[in-house]
Amino acid sequence: MKNESQGFSLLGFRTNTWWKKILSILYLCVCALIALGSIFEEKFENITTKDFVIDKLYYIVFLLAMLSPYIFLSNTRFRDKIPLFNKHTKSASVVGMIIVIFVFALLCGVVDSLHSEEYKADMENHAYKKTVVTEATCETDGEIDCHCEYCGLYTTETIKATGHKMVQVSADEDKIVNKCEVCGEEKTEVLEKQSTTETTTIKSETNTQKPVTTTEPEEVITFEEIYTDYQRNELAADDKYKGNRYKITGTIQTVNDGGLNGLFGELSVTVIAYANGTQCFLWCTFDEETQRDALTKVSMGDTITFEGTCESWGNWHDCEIVE
Ligand SMILES: [Zn+2]
Ligand SMILES: [Zn+2]
Repeated sequence: MKNESQGFSLLGFRTNTWWKKILSILYLCVCALIALGSIFEEKFENITTKDFVIDKLYYIVFLLAMLSPYIFLSNTRFRDKIPLFNKHTKSASVVGMIIVIFVFALLCGVVDSLHSEEYKADMENHAYKKTVVTEATCETDGEIDCHCEYCGLYTTETIKATGHKMVQVSADEDKIVNKCEVCGEEKTEVLEKQSTTETTTIKSETNTQKPVTTTEPEEVITFEEIYTDYQRNELAADDKYKGNRYKITGTIQTVNDGGLNGLFGELSVTVIAYANGTQCFLWCTFDEETQRDALTKVSMGDTITFEGTCESWGNWHDCEIVE
């Protein structure tokens, strides 16, 4: 219990404890920074004066709330006139501060609710004006600048690369030439008699010579069918194909040993397969122990047939090279 006639002493300086003084000064610095920030904060672009004033009022109430321990707990004449606080006991002060903070929180809510509907709507969902900075190409992502005309907030969005739109331009016995309608990139598939590129070739092949391998799927499903079904409905395609093993023929794009997959004893290979004239990039993982030797022999552009477990049309695991 302290006496009433103590004169003025600020919170943190009421007793002569060094760490209380330092803590008190640091806290006041934070308050000062918030105050400075609110003063120098720029006015939003299209905000009304009313909303601007309410914004500042909110800051003032917020700052007063932060400074309330100083107002009510510093030993001043003011304190001695306020019920609870004038008792100068810990329990009365705690109860008093809970009430004060509650009142300030209520006040902040009230001030905030004064904002115009426009302002509130923008805080939830900005009125962005979008400008395309870089167009997406077949292979690279594009970028969009988003600028909120109401509050002035800037942000960016990416546009996904579109992927090539391959169409077959010529085909004869030895090769099929596909060309991208958009960028003009050409891909040539060399066909070697029977057992190569197109998935249709596998179909006829497996029909003539009955399954030799043990894990042969009963009916032969081409990559084109899988891809088409996935484009139509991913969920239905998952039910139909996910977890099953299929044979796919395509050309090697990249062979990687490392990355995260390396930790799990897996090698990752990107294979290009075609479906409906579209070039599809397949991400395939092979078991390092059993498939390493076979994979060291292939290089980019080579045609391979592998069997793998379907995760989605573009994702295959536990792959094994068939030929
Ligand atoms: Zn905005
Ligand atoms: Zn292209």
